[in-house]
Amino acid sequence: MSDVRFPDDDMPAGAVVDGEAVTRAVDDAFDFVVVGSGAAGASAAYVLAEAGFSVGIVEEGPWLKTRDITEDVHTAFSKYTRESGMQVLRGRSFVPMIQGRCVGGSTLINSAIAWRIPEDVVDDWGARFGLGDSINMRELDPHFDALERDLSVRPVADDALGENNAMFLAMANKRGISASRMRRYDRGCKGSGMCLSACPTAAKQGMSVTYVPWALARHGARIFTSARVERVEIRGHRAVAVVAKSASGHPIVLRARRGVFVAASTVQTPNLLRRSGVRSPALGKHFQAHPGLAVGGMFKRSIEMSFGATQGAESIHYRKSERFKLETISFPPDIAAARIPGAGPELVERLARLGHVASWAAQIRARAEGTVGEGWSGADRVKYTLGEDDIRATRKAVALLARMMFDAGAQEVWPGIFGVPSVLRSVDQVKLVDEGPLDPRAYAFIATHLFGAARMGVDPRTSVVDADFRVHGVDDLWVVDSSVFPTNLGVNPQHSIMAMSRLAAARVAERAKGLRAA
Ligand SMILES: Cc1cc2nc3c(=O)[nH]c(=O)nc-3n(C[C@H](O)[C@H](O)[C@H](O)COP(=O)(O)OP(=O)(O)OC[C@H]3O[C@@H](n4cnc5c(N)ncnc54)[C@H](O)[C@@H]3O)c2cc1C
Ligand code: SF4
Repeated sequence: MSDVRFPDDDMPAGAVVDGEAVTRAVDDAFDFVVVGSGAAGASAAYVLAEAGFSVGIVEEGPWLKTRDITEDVHTAFSKYTRESGMQVLRGRSFVPMIQGRCVGGSTLINSAIAWRIPEDVVDDWGARFGLGDSINMRELDPHFDALERDLSVRPVADDALGENNAMFLAMANKRGISASRMRRYDRGCKGSGMCLSACPTAAKQGMSVTYVPWALARHGARIFTSARVERVEIRGHRAVAVVAKSASGHPIVLRARRGVFVAASTVQTPNLLRRSGVRSPALGKHFQAHPGLAVGGMFKRSIEMSFGATQGAESIHYRKSERFKLETISFPPDIAAARIPGAGPELVERLARLGHVASWAAQIRARAEGTVGEGWSGADRVKYTLGEDDIRATRKAVALLARMMFDAGAQEVWPGIFGVPSVLRSVDQVKLVDEGPLDPRAYAFIATHLFGAARMGVDPRTSVVDADFRVHGVDDLWVVDSSVFPTNLGVNPQHSIMAMSRLAAARVAERAKGLRAA
C-alpha cells in the first residue's frame, strides 16, 4: 500500500490551511468563497475554479486522508460526522440523522449511489413552484453528463457484487419487481463493504478525492479546514465576506469580491443564513427526508455481506405507486450487532453466525414536513414527525423485504418493529408486519437524505432563494445544497445535488466572465 499514491496525498504548498494549526487571525480575499466542501460545495468550487476564478473553500471539519483511513466505523462516525453521529430529528419519535463533518462532507461516508433526478420531480417543481424555465432536464442533463464522466459512474461490477446484492436481485426478479445493480461513483471498487467508514483505496469517488483536490491542485483553489463559518457578512444587500473561526480559536475572514456560495447542507444552511441576517418567512420551513430502515435475515448458507459493494442493488419499482425505494445495505459487524435481536446465549449464537446474515433496506419518500431552527445553545434543531401515510408505506416496504428474504430461504427475518415479534420464523408471520403499529416510535428509522428548509421559488413570501439560487433580496449570495429543493425525490440525492450546484455555479461563472470581458 505504501508506494500507492492517492489523489488526496499531495496538495500544492499553501493550498490547505488547517484550522487546527492556525496560530493567528487570517484575512484573505477571493473572487468566490464557498461554505462547505461536501457534494454541493465541492462541485460548485470546482466549476468556479475551473472557470478561472480564485476560490476559497471553508470547511468546518478536518480532512481525513485516504492513507489514514482505518476499518473502524466507530472512529469514522465519532470523528468525521456531525455531533459524532448523535444528531436526531425530534418529533413524536427520535430519528438519528447522519451527516459528514469533514472535507467531502457526507460523501466521505456514503455509499456512492448515483441517481439522476427523476423527471416527474422536475415537472412537479415546474408546475407547483414555477421553476420550469430555470430548472429542467435540458439545463441539468449536461451537468449530469459531466459528473458521470468526471466521477466514473458505472454499475457495480461482477467482481464487487457479493451475495447480499446478488440475492436481492434474484428475489426481486422472482417476484417480477424491476431491480438493478446500483450505478455508483466508482473507480475500481473492490467490494470491501466499507463505504460507511470511508473508502480505504479511494475507489469511491467522493469529494475529498475528486473535486476538492482537483480544484486545489489543477485550478489554484484554497481550502480552510476545521474552520466553522459563523456568518456571511451582508453589507447593503450584498454578500461581501465570510466570517469563520478556526478550531484553534482564531478568526478567519475571507472577503468575497464576487460572492458567496452556501453549501453547508440542509440542516446547517438555514441557520447560517439566519445568523447572517437573512429574514425570510420561508426560512427553516418545509424540511423533508427519506427516512430509511433496514431488515435483517439469517440464512443457513453463508452470505458474507462484508464482501460486495456496501449498497449494490436496488429497486425503484414502488417509488411512485407506494413512495418507497428498496436497497441492499451491508453493515460492518459493529453496526450489524446493534440490529441483531435477542440477548444472552441467543444473541451470542447469532453474532457467531454473522457471516450468514443478509441486510436489505427501504427509503421512504415521506410526505411529512418539518422545521429547521436553533436550540437554546445555538445548536441546529430539526422538528419532524412522520405521518400515518408514511408509516403505511414503511410497513409495506418492510413486509415486502421480509417476504423476499423468506423467498430466498431465510431461517429467520428481523423486521425491527416494536410491537411485532423481533424474529419472524415463517412467511405466514409477515402478516404481523402488514398489520404493524402506525406509531412512528415503533420503527428504527435513520435519516441520511435531507431536503428543503431554504426552498427555491419565485415568490419571496414562500421561498428563500430564486430560480437562479440567489437568496431573495441579497446580491451575490447563492445557496446550492439540497436545502433549496422544494421537495424530496424518492431516489438518492447526491447526484441531483451536485448537478444543481454545478448548474448554479456555471450560471454565475458565465455572468461573471461576461462582466469581466465587458
Ligand atoms: C451514511 C450515508 C450514506 C449515504 N449514501 C448516499 C448514496 O449512496 N447516494 C446518494 O445520493 N446520497 C447518499 N447519502 C446522502 C448524500 O451523501 C447527501 O445528500 C449529500 O452529501 C449532501 O450534500 P451537501 O453538500 O448538501 O452536504 P454534505 O455532503 O453533508 O456537506 C456539507 C458540508 O458542509 C460543512 N459545513 C456545515 N456547516 C458549516 C459551517 N458553518 N462552516 C463550514 N462548513 C460547514 C459540513 O461540515 C459538511 O462537510 C448518504 C448520506 C449518508 C450520511
Ligand atoms: S465497497 Fe468499494 S467503494 Fe466502498 S469502501 Fe469498499 S472498495 Fe471503496
